[in-house]
Amino acid sequence: MPTPIHPSPPVAVRPVRAEEHAAVAALTADVYLREGWADEEYAAHLRDVAGRAATSTVLVAVDGPRVVGALTVATRGGPMAEMAAPGEAVVRMLVVDPAARGRGVGRALVGAALDLARADGCRLVRLSTQPEMAAAHRVYASYGFRRTPARDWSPGRGVQLLTYALPLVPWCDQCGQALEDDGAHARCTAGRDLEPPRYCPHCRRRMVVQVLPDGWTARCVEHGTTTGG
Ligand SMILES: [Zn+2]
Ligand SMILES: [Zn+2]
Repeated sequence: MPTPIHPSPPVAVRPVRAEEHAAVAALTADVYLREGWADEEYAAHLRDVAGRAATSTVLVAVDGPRVVGALTVATRGGPMAEMAAPGEAVVRMLVVDPAARGRGVGRALVGAALDLARADGCRLVRLSTQPEMAAAHRVYASYGFRRTPARDWSPGRGVQLLTYALPLVPWCDQCGQALEDDGAHARCTAGRDLEPPRYCPHCRRRMVVQVLPDGWTARCVEHGTTTGG
């Protein structure tokens, strides 16, 4: 057989289809178990693709009919969005088939997750990762994710998780300051549940806020109206 002279084509990324749940379950659990990132109990949780697809978005990278990578992204809260405040997305369970490494699969999956979070109006993306997941850390850093050490935590099982965050908009909608320093906005995060936004997160203009009996609207002259409450 001659060596192919063309590089492998790029993979396509899209939401998982029901008939691919088993392939995603096997790939995710196999990679986590082989790398020592999960015990059998957590692997059983990783295999519940239908469960997480019901409350969040499971994205797959496909090479023709073959699933070569997957991740989960929660953009609207729910059980998969652990540790996230309203308006924050969470990326979880990124895996790449070892046979498909070096083809940008992880980067394509994370990029698609960020696009989805932006489309759903999220202001920030968070994730937790294990110290040994070096390839994933490189992908996160390439998109500008920064470490948030004050939020590092342990789910038990002797696992210590490192946390990262990436702001998707430049400005905090509560205080109008730059959003990049995560720790500086703890009060804004707490207040966001109760208060309408004061500043447009895209341009930092003061919002025109109307409080109504059943919620509020906040309008930026350039970026339009947000509703909530
Ligand atoms: Zn703030
Ligand atoms: Zn604006």
